[in-house]
Amino acid sequence: MNESSRRTLLASLAALGGAGLVAGCASPGKSLVGGTLAGRRRYDPLDPFPVIRAQADRIFRVTTCLRPFRAAGPRLDTERVGDHLVVHNYGHGGSGWSLSWGSSSIAVQKALSGGDRDIGVIGAGALGMTSALLAQRAGARVTIYARDRPPHVRSSRATGTWSPASRVALEQGLPVDFAGRWEDMCRTSFSHFQSYLGLAGTPVEWTDRYALSDIPFHEAHALRDRAGSPGFVDYHDRVRDLTPAPVDLPAGTHPFPTPFVRRSESLQFNIASLSDRLTNEFLAAGGRFEQAEFHAPYDLARLPQKTLINATGYGARALWRDESIVPVRGQLAWLIPQPELQFGISYRDVGLLSRRDGIIVQSSGVNDFAGYNDPNEQPDRAEAEAAVRVIAALMDRIVAPGRTAA
Ligand SMILES: Cc1cc2nc3c(=O)[nH]c(=O)nc-3n(C[C@H](O)[C@H](O)[C@H](O)COP(=O)(O)OP(=O)(O)OC[C@H]3O[C@@H](n4cnc5c(N)ncnc54)[C@H](O)[C@@H]3O)c2cc1C
Repeated sequence: MNESSRRTLLASLAALGGAGLVAGCASPGKSLVGGTLAGRRRYDPLDPFPVIRAQADRIFRVTTCLRPFRAAGPRLDTERVGDHLVVHNYGHGGSGWSLSWGSSSIAVQKALSGGDRDIGVIGAGALGMTSALLAQRAGARVTIYARDRPPHVRSSRATGTWSPASRVALEQGLPVDFAGRWEDMCRTSFSHFQSYLGLAGTPVEWTDRYALSDIPFHEAHALRDRAGSPGFVDYHDRVRDLTPAPVDLPAGTHPFPTPFVRRSESLQFNIASLSDRLTNEFLAAGGRFEQAEFHAPYDLARLPQKTLINATGYGARALWRDESIVPVRGQLAWLIPQPELQFGISYRDVGLLSRRDGIIVQSSGVNDFAGYNDPNEQPDRAEAEAAVRVIAALMDRIVAPGRTAA
């Protein structure tokens, strides 16, 4: 596969919410493909294609969320507020879950470097929870202060896929060492997520992703570029060893109606279960939640902990008056879960990811720029239904048992 087509595939996979769709796992009593895992059957392309019930009346909710994007990448510096040390840990764009452990490792190291072992974490999203857990594991006593807890945080409205380079920074003007720091964060996170595989509730798993295209992937990629790229960084090459190489599936070896099909495998975050797991770990280690809303940095000075980690995500824009945070809107349509589906599909700017807590269907727009600087967090039912219709039309053309390709 050449570089251009690889990039196209990655972009297509990234269509899942500024997130990639991609999967795989061995299973008891069966071969690797066509096996079962925790009651689910891993789809093999030579099997009859399972029916995806892509119907508008099966949408049980539509959620909208703003990615906290910063052109300069996540903010991880420190500052003093009164006699408090604040370590920032926000601004992860479309990569917050994926980079969470790595970014929070840096924040926690900074927080603990002064010797304080009584830490306050502001925020209970992906970055707040992982900061709190890592600080606890390093021996600190931790209190989380947050306006909202999962499942009411923005992190609970993410696609749930490994997407460490999704809308994470702009190429222009980055410090030369940024790519290296990003890679460190990415590798640290990837390694932490491995310890959440195979657990009850399946907080994390590997799943297959099928990228489907009517035109060669490199042409699709060129079209996306022509649609106007904002110049997001693309670091996939730096970590290509972490995930298996995508595979082109020749006609006749799959049921899909498109001439170009690629399969890749990626980590999937079943966010309901993952958030639950992180919360329970935090409480079991003696952590405390306190509901609190802050309106200005100086509000933090009343907290008893002198060392704080600020993991307020998009909320930092108002709290810290940080206008370097740009909202990048994204919306998910949630279809009733079908546990028998264990894969993701991307086709025509629509991504589908079958999670344990719902089948996520997402319109990604013509390129990663879609939703850029759009602060509208109101769900749009028509947009959700249109995305589901793309999958329904695809299903109509899929070679199912007793049918031939349209
Ligand atoms: C549609 C969509 C799909 C996405 N898909 C993926 C994906 O598949 N993979 C991936 O890695 N990333 C994905 N992302 C990105 C990811 O969701 C974010 O980067 C991540 O959720 C940011 O987490 P956070 O902890 O920084 O912020 P949040 O989840 O927003 O948490 C912020 C916390 O701070 C609290 N808070 C905020 N302001 C205040 C205040 N003033 N006072 C008190 N508390 C406050 C909130 O209550 C909350 O507890 C996606 C984003 C979107 C929009």
